[in-house]
Amino acid sequence: MDVQVIPLDWHRLFWGDTDWLFLLEVLIRTSILFGWLLLMMRWIGKRGIAQISLVELVFVMAIGSAAGDPMFYPEVPLIPALACITILTVLQRWTAQGIIQNESLETLLEGKPREIIRDGILKTTALKEAGLSKEDLFELLRVHNIRQLGQIQRAYHEQNGQVSVIRYEQLADAPVGLAIVPPWDIEMPDTYDGAMASADNPLVCMSCGALALQPMRHCTLCEEDCWTSACRDPLCVSPPAGATESDSP
Ligand SMILES: [Zn+2]
Repeated sequence: MDVQVIPLDWHRLFWGDTDWLFLLEVLIRTSILFGWLLLMMRWIGKRGIAQISLVELVFVMAIGSAAGDPMFYPEVPLIPALACITILTVLQRWTAQGIIQNESLETLLEGKPREIIRDGILKTTALKEAGLSKEDLFELLRVHNIRQLGQIQRAYHEQNGQVSVIRYEQLADAPVGLAIVPPWDIEMPDTYDGAMASADNPLVCMSCGALALQPMRHCTLCEEDCWTSACRDPLCVSPPAGATESDSP
């Protein structure tokens, strides 16, 4: 059943059939949805949208929805949409101010930085909490021109979703570590039996990056038993002397 639209009917354009009390409902609806969006976005994490804060992202999403429909649906009046956009803007400013002034609110909405690598060793629990897979992290580290984990003194997963890296300036100064170049999807590192580790032929745990300088079956840090050659520069490395590749994956 089509109702004929009279163009430039100012009453319909701004107000339509809206009751004044409906503006109060808009306030309640908008506040609830803004809060709920913040919580949901916080829950799923925000990897990959690192240039924008969580509050800004939710604001942009919500304001886009609020502004969209009234632009071309003649039956949607402007006043409730304008009220909605105004409320969202006020909420965004309050929340942004609150985050600056209140540490607990900041932690609640934006989380806190996590140390994910210390002295070349992956902190697997922190990585899991950050919602990053090992492959994702290695990809981000390659962007920082990292060839092997020994180059990294500290790496942090920051509140904005980025990974910051504190590293040895020179590759030659870095200890040996787990190679992440070339990407493992292209070429898996050769694996070796942990029993052949020694100070001359250091091996490194493929799960956490811990070094083995003496024979050992399982990694003392993560209990895994998959070892590869520790190297300073994976792009010019030769296998340990007398090494035979193990069949383990
Ligand atoms: Zn390990």
